[in-house]
Amino acid sequence: MAYFNGPIQVLIEQLSQLPGIGAKSAQRLAFYIIAQPEEKATRLAESILSARQNVRYCTECCTLTDGDMCPVCADQKRDHGTIMVVETPRDLAAYEKTGKYKGVYHVLHGAISPMLGVGPNDIRLKELMKRLASEEIREVIVATNSSLEGETTAMYISKLIKPSGIRTTRIASGVPVGGDLENIDEVTLLRALDGRTVL
Ligand code: ZN
Repeated sequence: MAYFNGPIQVLIEQLSQLPGIGAKSAQRLAFYIIAQPEEKATRLAESILSARQNVRYCTECCTLTDGDMCPVCADQKRDHGTIMVVETPRDLAAYEKTGKYKGVYHVLHGAISPMLGVGPNDIRLKELMKRLASEEIREVIVATNSSLEGETTAMYISKLIKPSGIRTTRIASGVPVGGDLENIDEVTLLRALDGRTVL
């Protein structure tokens, strides 16, 4: 890495801080970017800036969006009485890709993890409870990952919701233990949804 200095070294360092990008990949990407026509590199830099500056959290479901409300929440044809609770916007995208789920979502942006010091107040649970209190919700489908953190979060949510009497279900364990929703194929996702059980 010390063979390079100045701006190229800075670029390599920045890229290598991205998740899943090691030192070698960072070098490869940096040289690729340098070899591109200047306007292409500018477009890349601008798209990063624009995304960072303009993306916000949906006022309803807390997913990332560029308006006040995400396209799912803004869609009146969706069933707004059914909320699927997921950990990340990527999990939301995985279920959206199946095209079969007609309800809306709630994105927690994480899961409860005593080991990592992530408590209920560190994820978007308050926002979920506020929705449940102010909207007519028939069912909450807890679709957190089947990791220890995901299960802990699911149990916590079910206890939280129980007094309200709202039907709370958990997706079936067609999703492998420790599996992230985003890496699971559509058939398994839909089977997990169909086989959900009451918490
Ligand atoms: Zn939304």
